Amino acid sequence: VGDDAAVLEVNPGFELIACCDLSVEGVHFRREWAPPRLIGHKALAVTLSDVAAMGALARFAMVSMALPKSTSAQFIDELLAGMFELAEAWQVSIVGGDTSVSPGPLIIDTSVIGECEKGLALKRGGARPGDTIYVTGSLGASALGLQLLNSGITIDAGATETAGEAAQPPQVEAILRHLKPEPRLDAGRAIAQARVATAMIDISDGLSTDLSHIVEESGCGAVIQASSVPIAGCVTALASSGFDVVPLDVALHGGEEYELLFTAPPEAAARIADRFRSLSLQCTAIGEVIERPGLHLASEGGLEPMRPLGFEHLI
Ligand SMILES: [Mg+2]
Repeated sequence: VGDDAAVLEVNPGFELIACCDLSVEGVHFRREWAPPRLIGHKALAVTLSDVAAMGALARFAMVSMALPKSTSAQFIDELLAGMFELAEAWQVSIVGGDTSVSPGPLIIDTSVIGECEKGLALKRGGARPGDTIYVTGSLGASALGLQLLNSGITIDAGATETAGEAAQPPQVEAILRHLKPEPRLDAGRAIAQARVATAMIDISDGLSTDLSHIVEESGCGAVIQASSVPIAGCVTALASSGFDVVPLDVALHGGEEYELLFTAPPEAAARIADRFRSLSLQCTAIGEVIERPGLHLASEGGLEPMRPLGFEHLI
């Protein structure tokens, strides 16, 4: 930072991976729902998640912001602190950016440059019939968290300091999963370096919608086993305490999960399990790639078509 542009050193034998993401107040976040630290965290996390989805290592980031005149210096400091904290955790250098005044909402653009061994980056179009479909982590919590926030439930700032701790009440856990997603960079690298995956994507629009991107790009279809879908504990806990949520629905269609969805041939199962053993992150086989186009859900009631009902952002 300080010169007109950043000069970046590229490792020999690697390819550059570049992506950017826009976070707009009122569309992607609301100031009354999240402290500035978490707004900064999430704005960068979603872009890092795209790098993770390629199986790449995140190296550099650039951040540009358009700020309403009324934004306090403390707010900006906290927002940047959230961003720098996440960048540091993944050894990502923030090498540039720009700021301007916004006549409307607060807008944050994050660009990330990563790198991946030549030919190893995973794309969406490589899935083949017979491949197993895997997903990392558990699903449904982020959409439920958004539903809770929309219904007027908020969390106090103190809860955000202990994010990720299992001792959180289910409502707080769901809201934190929405406000503070963790990019699966370690898992993405492990999957790429195992050299067995055929396609990968991060779940930003919902499992059904993001899986439809993989099968459409790959020219095939998929069957998901309803009973295998890993539903987040806080979702089942709130559903069984009477909260109005259908766990399987939010797990299949809820957006902003930032888990990784990937495909690999069945003979790679042991190798994948092996890679995940050291990651303290679950990885679940949830279905199979088939020749017939379209998505299908297999449950006790038989096989039915599954429409990609991608979850919309705030509005
Ligand atoms: Mg993505």
